[in-house]
Amino acid sequence: MADAKIRLFVDHPLGPGQTVDLSREQAHYLFGVMRLGPGAPVLLFNGQDGEFRASVAEAGKRGGVLAVEAQTRPMQVPPDLWLMFAPIKKARTDFIVEKATEMGAARIVPVQTEFTNSERIRRDRLQAHAVEAAEQCGGTFVPEVADLVGLSKLLDDWEPARRIMFADEALVGAAEALGQAAGVQAHGPWAILIGPEGGFSAAERARLCSCDFVTPVSLGPRILRADTAAVAAMTVWQQVLGDWR
Ligand code: SAM
Repeated sequence: MADAKIRLFVDHPLGPGQTVDLSREQAHYLFGVMRLGPGAPVLLFNGQDGEFRASVAEAGKRGGVLAVEAQTRPMQVPPDLWLMFAPIKKARTDFIVEKATEMGAARIVPVQTEFTNSERIRRDRLQAHAVEAAEQCGGTFVPEVADLVGLSKLLDDWEPARRIMFADEALVGAAEALGQAAGVQAHGPWAILIGPEGGFSAAERARLCSCDFVTPVSLGPRILRADTAAVAAMTVWQQVLGDWR
């Protein structure tokens, strides 16, 4: 039985004996780009049931059908961690979404802050990046990319049971590490907050530090670019509190 090399996210229930009708785009990718033919193996996942091996039952220019055979990997749900970040330039925002997906974010929340220089985002495009990242990294879970939300409204509506790891550039070089911070409990929902190229305003910092569900942390002795900071913060969180321990 040939090994399946291609992984495809499908928004469709998956189980042995299930058939999956392909969209035009999926058919073009499998049969036009990847040149698969009838009987070829494909790995499918839908973000809920784990990963399944399937084979091409019908291949056409505008569609096709896959026959689901057996589960190859169980569903692996990441820890309850949100990555919240201020959008930066398009390519680097795409990078943040891709890395957050690979590193196990359960949800990705673009946040408009005072110094954010991107007024709007294409949520559907970012969601497609998250799907693509999950397909490529072997994940079975796809985080939801939320709509852009203002920091003030986000905090107004915040559920205090979810702690925020606030990457505060003003703490650069300070010894405020997540692992030593007070009130850091290993279980429970968390979020990471990363600011824009212009950093956080004094008013934003004051409000964040006044919230008892916020843990301000340093990401070391150098100022990191926002996309680097997102990866660094996720690494720290996963190592100290997440599923990398
Ligand atoms: N313009 C800011 C400055 O020059 O101080 C830098 C902002 S930095 C490019 C973007 C975001 O990355 C910051 O808002 C913060 O969330 C995070 N960040 C970067 N370096 C950090 C550090 N050493 N400690 C904590 N957070 C950091």
